[in-house]
Amino acid sequence: MADYGDHETGDDPLQRLRHSTAHLLAAAVTELYPNAKYAIGPPIENPPGFYYDFDFGKPISESDLTAIESRMRKLAQADIPFEHEVMPREQAIEEFRKRGQDYKLELIAGKVEGDGVSVYRTGDFLDLCRGPHVRSTKDLKAFKLLRVAGAYWRGDEKRPQLTRIYGTAWQTPRELDDYLKFLEEAERRDHKKLGKDLKLFAVDDRVGPGLPLWLPDGATIRRELERFIVDEELARGYQHVRTPDVARLDLFRQSGHAQLYAEYMYPTMKFEDGEELELRPVNCPHHIVVYQTELRSYRDLPLRIAEIGNNWRYERSGTLAGMNRVRSFALNDAHIFCTPGQLMDEVKGAIDLALYFSQVLGIDEFRYQLSTRDEVKDKWLGTEELWQEAQAALAEALESMGQQYKVGAGEAAFYGPKIDFQVYDAHRREFTNSTVQVDFQLPQRFDLEYVAEDGSRQRPVMVHRGAAGAMERLFSYLIERYAGAFPTWLHPTQVVVAPIADAHAEYAQQVAARLRSARVRVDVDGRSERLDRKIRDAKLKKVPYIAVVGGNEVASGHINVRDRSGNKVDMPLESFVNDIAAEIAERRR
Ligand SMILES: [Zn+2]
Ligand SMILES: [Zn+2]
Repeated sequence: MADYGDHETGDDPLQRLRHSTAHLLAAAVTELYPNAKYAIGPPIENPPGFYYDFDFGKPISESDLTAIESRMRKLAQADIPFEHEVMPREQAIEEFRKRGQDYKLELIAGKVEGDGVSVYRTGDFLDLCRGPHVRSTKDLKAFKLLRVAGAYWRGDEKRPQLTRIYGTAWQTPRELDDYLKFLEEAERRDHKKLGKDLKLFAVDDRVGPGLPLWLPDGATIRRELERFIVDEELARGYQHVRTPDVARLDLFRQSGHAQLYAEYMYPTMKFEDGEELELRPVNCPHHIVVYQTELRSYRDLPLRIAEIGNNWRYERSGTLAGMNRVRSFALNDAHIFCTPGQLMDEVKGAIDLALYFSQVLGIDEFRYQLSTRDEVKDKWLGTEELWQEAQAALAEALESMGQQYKVGAGEAAFYGPKIDFQVYDAHRREFTNSTVQVDFQLPQRFDLEYVAEDGSRQRPVMVHRGAAGAMERLFSYLIERYAGAFPTWLHPTQVVVAPIADAHAEYAQQVAARLRSARVRVDVDGRSERLDRKIRDAKLKKVPYIAVVGGNEVASGHINVRDRSGNKVDMPLESFVNDIAAEIAERRR
């Protein structure tokens, strides 16, 4: 990202408006908190608006935003012009020193080019800035402050922690209103909130941040996902293995991770007997060793080794978020070893599998990104020629399947180009869910070979592929996608049986036993509560079916079934067992 200490807004009118609103925020803050120091305040894409970082001395809280926002409105109505000025360096230093703005002074000190310093003035407020801006504060008609967060000065954990105020700004009040409605819906769906409300997972400081605990209902969903994934992969010719979370450090030296991926890896565990073990950040080296447990022949290829394998990466604490960004995750991973001639079909097969998973799981909106190398030397393992070859193979696979894609130059992994399958969370933040990577490098580093038809030793090509992504991230996606109302096959409680009165409790137990024998997950709500209370509680948990049983049902052997859309139907128990068993087996949405 650009250094916004001396930001430029460019021609986009919305960007200009948002950047101007950031100045308005800083102007309001300096009026209300004369000792506050302002750092940087750029327009941003998510949330669509801006932020400004402040040093308040003593941090403020969300409840202070109302007062700041109303001061902003006052300044907006006052019709104060945005005035541009290029000051001699000495004068700019004097102006900011007078105001006690140390962060701005540091930014000026870091500027090398020229003597003139570009500043913008709105009334008494002065900011280091190249603009452009709107004409006057009166042009700022539709904005709202959203929240506060902590942020380090220049993103450096060793520098002071600042208070970042986020806001959104639009051209019309109507657009603002639409956005606020969208935000409300996104917050309702937020997986951290729903994960807690629905008791799906927990994060506890004693265990540590980024290490979520899967509670029983969350673990049930994960088990269903893993069964689905593993069964489908077995049907498509993958072989599932189990390999340990740790390996000797030397394994990662050989793979290159110890040298090139060190910043994300946990420190090495060193033992008195000289042993050095490392938590794995990826599964590839283990799967390579599996490949090498026997001499492979061309008849064994393509060999598809799969595992839902635990990976350990030490993400910085500021980036951790619920289940979406964690420090240990289980990846739906596979490594395909094939001949160069089989490569195209294997890449296509991996894309096809990812598409199938998305279709069943309800991942309706996604885009492909083809991540390639850039021109920076020494950053990429292997020759330019190998890279070109691999990049061409990935592009051709996508094109032959009629899939559109975007190219991200310089975003490849250090060992090879990749296709990323990008999806969006409820807040429209984009993240990578699955990936297909061609790798010509690791086969060299590990001296992989197979016996070709003519008896010669040849080097296989390797494809890394994560079709459904990490379980944690997939789970966070699905919670938000369904707002907790998971499809029946995934829902931790598929049916709640609700007896109307104690007299129907025995029949309720029989209904539950029959459903359980058909492998349906069922709860009996035997509390002495009123029926509407039982129904309300089951609805809060978004349970797919509520089976109400009373005198009529006991007499007829029926149940009264309510689904989530409010349909009610009286039916024989056996018909319901057949219907729900089919719905689950077909994994209907
Ligand atoms: Zn500015
Ligand atoms: Zn891999």
